[in-house]
Amino acid sequence: MNSKVSNDWKWQIANRISTREQLEEYIELTDDERAAFDGDIPLSFAVTPHYASLLTSDALRKTVIPTDHENNIGTGELADPLGEEDHRATPHLIHTYPDKVLFLATTFCSTYCRYCTRSRMVGKPLPFDVSTFDETFQYIEEHKEIRDVLISGGDPLTMTDSVLDELLSRVRNIPHIRMVRIGSKVPVVLPQRITAELCSILRKHRVWLSLHFIHEAELSPETKAACRMLSDYGIGMVSQTVLLKGVNDDTQSLIDLFYGLLEINVKPYYLLQCDPVQGSEHFRTTVEKGIELIQSLHGHISGLAVPQYVIDAPGGGGKVPIIGKEQIRREGDDVVFLNYLGKEYRYPDPL
Ligand code: SF4
Repeated sequence: MNSKVSNDWKWQIANRISTREQLEEYIELTDDERAAFDGDIPLSFAVTPHYASLLTSDALRKTVIPTDHENNIGTGELADPLGEEDHRATPHLIHTYPDKVLFLATTFCSTYCRYCTRSRMVGKPLPFDVSTFDETFQYIEEHKEIRDVLISGGDPLTMTDSVLDELLSRVRNIPHIRMVRIGSKVPVVLPQRITAELCSILRKHRVWLSLHFIHEAELSPETKAACRMLSDYGIGMVSQTVLLKGVNDDTQSLIDLFYGLLEINVKPYYLLQCDPVQGSEHFRTTVEKGIELIQSLHGHISGLAVPQYVIDAPGGGGKVPIIGKEQIRREGDDVVFLNYLGKEYRYPDPL
C-alpha cells in the first residue's frame, strides 16, 4: 500500500491511478494483466488510491483491471446494449420509461468498471455541445408526465458541491417532479467524498441514492462510515449489484454482501443480469444461473436482504424482474421474455 495516500477526496481524484506503472505501486500484476496494459485497452481505465487499496481481493481486481477478454466482442453484444441513444431526448437526457428520465450529468467516474453499460461514453468527452443543462431542464419542465429523475452518468457525486446544489435545486423547482435519485459508486470507490457539506445538500433536496456495490470486499471501514453518515442525514439508500461471473455469482458471496449492506442501512434493490455490452462475455452468467441464485436467497435469508433479480431488456424495454424459469424461454442463443408492456425482448445468452 502506497504510504502517501490522503483522505481528501480531491487528492484521491487528482492522484487517480491511470497507468500500469502507477497501479504497480499498489499491487503486483499477473503476466496476463501486464500484457493487457501493453496491448489495446478499449475501455477507460482509472482507479482511486482508496479502491486500489482493496485490490488484494481477487473479486474486486477482476472488475477494474483490464484484461485481453474485453477486446472480444461476444454474440449479440453492443456498444449501447440498452438502446439509450434511440431514446436521447436532449444532449443530457434519456427518456425511455413513461414517467422517469435518466439525466446524464457527467461522463466522469473516479474509478471505471470493466463491465460498464455506458463504457461507450464514460471517461470520454460527449460527442456534442454540453455547455449547459438548460435544454434538459426545459424538456423536463414541458413534459409534465415525468415524475422521477435519475441523475447518473458517469458518477454525479464526483461533481463539486456547488454544481450539484444548483443542479438539484433546478430539478426540485420543477413542480411535477416527485422523486430525485442519484446513481453513484462514490461511497465505494471514493468514500472521502461523503462529507457533512455534501450530506446537507442531499438532505436539502430530498435525494435518494442508488449505490453500486458488487462484493462484500467493498465494505471497507471508510465505506461503512460514509454510508452511516448518509443514513444519519436521513438519505435513503438502495443498492444495485451487477451479477458477475467469478466475482459474485455464488450464494454465499451474495448473502455476505446483502447482509453487509443492510447493516449500513442500504437496502439491496436490484441484482442485475450483466448487460450485453461489448467485451463483457467473460463477466456474464447465464440467465438460468441468475434464477438459481435468486431462488437460493428467497425464503432462506431475511426478505429485506433479497433484491429483485432483473434483466434490463436490451434495446430499451426497461427492467424486467425475473422470479422463475417459467417467465423465460430459450431460442437458440437468446433468452426471450416479456417486459412490463407485454412486449417481447431477447437477451443474448449463448450456452
Ligand atoms: S461507476 Fe457506474 S458509470 Fe462509472 S464506470 Fe462504473 S458502472 Fe460505469
